[in-house]
Formats: sequence, structure tokens, C-alpha cells
Amino acid sequence: MSAQRGNCHWVGEFDPQVFEHLESRGYSIVVGDDPTVYNFKDEANGLTIVHARQAPSESAIEMLGSDQKNRNTVVIWTESRFAEAWQQTGADLVIGREFDSKFVHLLNFAINIYEDRVQWRESEDRFDRSSDDLHASIESLEIASRRFEALFNGLPVGCFTFDAKGMIHEWNGLATEIFGIEGYQAFLNYVWDTLDPDCSGAWSSEVVDKIFTSESGTEFDWSFTRDDGVVVHLACKIVSLTNKKGEVVAAIAGNLDITARVLAQEQLEEQMRENRNYLRVMEKQRLKLQEANRQLRRLAVTDGLTSLTNRRRFNELLEEVLDRSVRQSQTFSVLMFDIDHFKSLNDVFGHQAGDEILEKFANVLRSTARRYERPARYGGEEFAIILDNCDKAASLLAAERFRLAINCYNWPYREIHASIGCSTFCGIESTREMVEKADSALYYSKHNGRDRVSHFDDTVSLETKAA
Ligand code: GH3
Ligand code: MG
Ligand code: MG
Repeated sequence: MSAQRGNCHWVGEFDPQVFEHLESRGYSIVVGDDPTVYNFKDEANGLTIVHARQAPSESAIEMLGSDQKNRNTVVIWTESRFAEAWQQTGADLVIGREFDSKFVHLLNFAINIYEDRVQWRESEDRFDRSSDDLHASIESLEIASRRFEALFNGLPVGCFTFDAKGMIHEWNGLATEIFGIEGYQAFLNYVWDTLDPDCSGAWSSEVVDKIFTSESGTEFDWSFTRDDGVVVHLACKIVSLTNKKGEVVAAIAGNLDITARVLAQEQLEEQMRENRNYLRVMEKQRLKLQEANRQLRRLAVTDGLTSLTNRRRFNELLEEVLDRSVRQSQTFSVLMFDIDHFKSLNDVFGHQAGDEILEKFANVLRSTARRYERPARYGGEEFAIILDNCDKAASLLAAERFRLAINCYNWPYREIHASIGCSTFCGIESTREMVEKADSALYYSKHNGRDRVSHFDDTVSLETKAA
């Protein structure tokens, strides 16, 4: 007995030989309740054997005719005289003979038809199922594709896709707008031919190779000159598209138009360059002005011939020293110098020689002065020195020091001497009085033989004595 293959529906008179054969082929016999009813529909997709002792009835013809869809394999076993009538129905096989070897042969043939049908039906079902799956996949692919297309075209950046060879496959609306190139002009062309015709290096086969060999995407800024001459600046971001194996199969380049930003930045940089230049010029001018002011200030307080402090600055310094002396309850002294018989030097050797002597006289004072002693040219051939924190005795010593230095100097033309007058602050004098007192002492020296030092206080006491 072979493996169980299914049921065989038996309609009509029982026949043990046929049953036995069917069972030997692996079929269980299912006998219908009413042998006259051919309800093939209920036995859809089955093997049905009808043992008919008469010609087909109307209902049998109708039933068999409408059975096509159900693929019920129907075998009619009838007498040879009814065979032809049954042939007219939709039966798959009509056996019009008694049970014999030919009958068995025919029945086997019917069983084979049935089994082939079953197999066919199964593969057809399988095919239907995979076809359904395929349709579903295609549909979701179409949806995804439509979604990608809508997204791709609606993106606010100029997008295009290209393969590993650098060939462009997609080109969105904004790319057309930005580059001034229609999609049909770009499709299936190389990226570098389309976007870098001058071979500037922004796009080349090397750039594409690099994109396809790098694992992550890449970003760079680049510029493109359109046919109308307009230069557009772009920020490009490349996103790689990979297959299931993770291999990069395509790339999307999204290009954001940053022309306005770049131009604004260039303008700003230009402005900043200009500003920097302007500031440099300003700084130079400021330094020049500062230097001019310094010079002016120096000139304003310096004597032109001797470079000593001039009379104006001397008076200022005198004010300062006097104020400080009052504040600190200290004293100070003033020395006044007048070159003896200077006029005759001018007369004999000329004004030029007089100037020369004045310069040398200033140098002698300068080199003899201590750090806190500031010689000044008071006017003509008169000089003055403030001695800060210096009493009468010290002022006389200092004056002698200067007089000796003048006398010891190796003068050209002739010997030079000077008369010196000193005054020392008692806490009540004004600056003018201090100068007047020193001047008075100076004239005292003149009147007493020149080339000498006199202190105002002594001249007063002497005068008082004389009186
Ligand atoms: P003494 O003071 O000893 O009484 O005699 P003095 O000849 O020096 O006196 P006086 O004041 O009469 O003469 C000063 C002279 O100094 C008069 C002036 O021509 C001269 N003098 C003043 N300033 C300058 C100057 O800048 N250069 C030259 N070369 N001479 C000057
Ligand atoms: Mg004089
Ligand atoms: Mg003089």
C-alpha cells in the first residue's frame, strides 16, 4: 500500500475492485450519502469518480459544466452506450467499459491527471502568494520612490545623485534653478563635465572616488560659474547611499546656495581691511601729531640757542618748588648768573662768538649741576638755577661750585667770568620776590667787583649796616 494521497469521492454503485485499486494508489474512499447527487462543488479540488449506470441528467451536465473553476477532477465510469453522452459534459475522463486492465490503465491516467493538477495548483498557489508579495513590494517601493521624489524635488537645496562612476542620475528643481542646467542636460553625464567644465578641481573623478571610498559623508564649499556669468557659492553636503552589504552605491549631493552669505562676508572683510588701513593711517597720524606736540611742548619750554629750560618753564618750576616747599615746610634757593662784560665780547669777537660762548656757558652749568639742580636761560646772558631743599649756606656753596667751574673752563676768545646772586626762601616770598632778591644780590656782586657770589640776606644786612 502506497502513502496516503487523499480522498476519492465515490458517487454511485459500489465496486470492490475499483475501490481496491484506488486504495492501492493511496486513496481513501469517501462514499456519498445519495448516489444520484453529483455535488461536485462540495468536493472542490478533489478526485471524484461517478459510477453512472445511465446517461447524464440535466443537473449532472450543469454541475459538471460549472465545475471548471473548482478543478474537481471528475471521472465518469459508465457503460459504453452512455459514454458519448458523458463525453459532452465537462467530465475530465469518461471510461465506457467494464473493469479490466485497460480500465485500470485509464483510471491511473485520471489519477495522474488529478495529481498533476494538485501539484500544479500548489505551485500556482505558491506563485500567487509570491506574486502578491511581489506586488506589495512593488507598491511599497513605488510609495517610497514617490516619497523620495517629492522630498528630493521639494528640498530647499540643489540636489543631484550620482553613481560610483560619477554619472548623474537625479537632478532636482532647485539644482536647475541654482546651476541654470536642466535635468535632461545633466542626466547620465559625468558630474565633473556638468559642474566643473573648467577643471577647477571642485568636481573630478578623484573627488568622486574619495566620496565612494570614504565611510562617512563629506562636506565642502565650492563655487560654480553659470552660463550667464553669475558665480554661485555653495555649501555642499554629500550623503552616501549604501546597499544591504553596506557598500556605497550612490551619493546624494545637497547644495545650499550661500552666495549672499559669502558676498556679505567678502564685503565685510573688504570693509574690515579698509577699516584696518584707515586705522593704520590714523595711528600714523596720531603718532606724528603726538611727536609734533611733544616737540612743540619741548620748544615751548626750551631755549632755542642753549637747549636749557627757558624763562617760562623756569617760572613754572619755581611755582612748583615754592608750593612744595610751603607744603613740606622746607626751604629752597635761587641762583641768578650774569656773564661779566659780555657786551664787549660781542663787540670784539662778533655776535656769533657771543652765541658760541652762551652755548658753552650753558654746557658748563649743565655739567656742573647736580641731578636736582635745573639750570635755565633767564634771558640774554643771564642764567638761573633753582636749588630745591637748599638753605642759604648750601646755596652759597653751590654758587661757588658753579663760579669755580666757569672760571676753570677753557674758554675760546678770552676768559669768561660771571657774577652770581643767591636768594633763599623764608616761607613768605612770592616767586617774583625770590627772583628779585636773587637779582638784587647779583647786582650786588656786579657792584662789588664781579666774578663773585652774593646772597641777598647778606646784602640786606650789609646795607642795613651801611645805613
Ligand atoms: P655786565 O653784565 O658785566 O655789567 O656787562 P655786560 O656787557 O654783560 O652788560 P649788558 O647787559 O650791557 O650787555 C649784555 C649784552 O648781551 C647785550 C647783548 O648784546 C648781549 N646779548 C644778549 N643776548 C644775546 C644773545 O643771544 N647773543 C649774543 N651774542 N649776545 C647777546
Ligand atoms: Mg645782563
Ligand atoms: Mg652781563
